Amino acid sequence: MSSAGKEQYRLLTNEILSCTKCRLSAGRIHAVPGEGPVPCRIMFIGEAPGEKEDRSGRPFAGRAGIVLQDLLDTIGLSRNEVFITSILKCRPPGNRDPKGDEITSCRPYLHRQIILVQPSVIVPMGRFSATVILEQFGIRPGRISEIHGREIRAETPHCSIILFPVYHPAVITHNPSLKSDLVQDFQRLRMVLEKAGRSG
Ligand code: URA
Repeated sequence: MSSAGKEQYRLLTNEILSCTKCRLSAGRIHAVPGEGPVPCRIMFIGEAPGEKEDRSGRPFAGRAGIVLQDLLDTIGLSRNEVFITSILKCRPPGNRDPKGDEITSCRPYLHRQIILVQPSVIVPMGRFSATVILEQFGIRPGRISEIHGREIRAETPHCSIILFPVYHPAVITHNPSLKSDLVQDFQRLRMVLEKAGRSG
């Protein structure tokens, strides 16, 4: 990446860290911009930081992060090879669902991250992230139970990106029967990445 690109990424991260665009900034310990290489061929996008993430400033620092790490292991990827972030960069109180105006305030940060990270594949994790990401690319979102594990092609003015929604790793805590879907989807993801690597 050019040094101008690196500088843009650094400035963007600083903007997120000091953001006061919505009410969530008042209650946070840390904003959580995300982490990973820039550029990066694959980007995982969750919903919002939880308590551990708010305390540490790192995405997926808690239980969901352990599940995500295990899933990455099954396809031979480590955390430091992938870019991980969430739709919201600050923790909603008590981990409640994000509100519409919070998403509207935070969405431009994710949009700019995607432009700078330049992923070939974006993996929205969970119903909420899948809806926001598909809408962002002008695609009508479906139910996560119907679209998980499917390759959805999104065209941008500059390139084409594969969207590959999966269940949120935290789902296993409430609904262990979905673990096999997640594991299977990650196996498919491995093939999607291999294909994307060959064509790009
Ligand atoms: N869940 C998310 O969606 N994001 C995090 O960073 C942690 C848990």
